[in-house]
Amino acid sequence: MVVVYILFAIIALVIDILIAKRFQSIAEDKGYSGSGYFWLCLLLGVVGYTIVAALPDMTTRWMIKQMGSETVSNDTQRTGEAHPISSKAVDYTSATHNSSSWKCKKCGSVNAGYVSSCSCGQSKRENG
Ligand SMILES: [Zn+2]
Repeated sequence: MVVVYILFAIIALVIDILIAKRFQSIAEDKGYSGSGYFWLCLLLGVVGYTIVAALPDMTTRWMIKQMGSETVSNDTQRTGEAHPISSKAVDYTSATHNSSSWKCKKCGSVNAGYVSSCSCGQSKRENG
């Protein structure tokens, strides 16, 4: 019977090693150096497996970070070319250089041609 126990112990050990190897590769897939996790799983068994399973996935994190920064840079690019800012710039240019811009007689502020009344209340028509 002792032989059977030893046999079982060896089989259990082999299975344990195989599982630990598997978890080592999982840890490596997650972006961690695996050998430490191999011993962790071999010696702690289920506790080690749980730790590896609970490890945050560094690879996914990295990919998400990459995707996030790409999105951010895309947004920056988009904003750079975007309508709001460039059209504002155009508006500003037309407001300052366009002949249709008008200077308020009441408060002296220069308004763009499309502005029908000044912020002080003076309307373009009244302004003459
Ligand atoms: Zn005014």
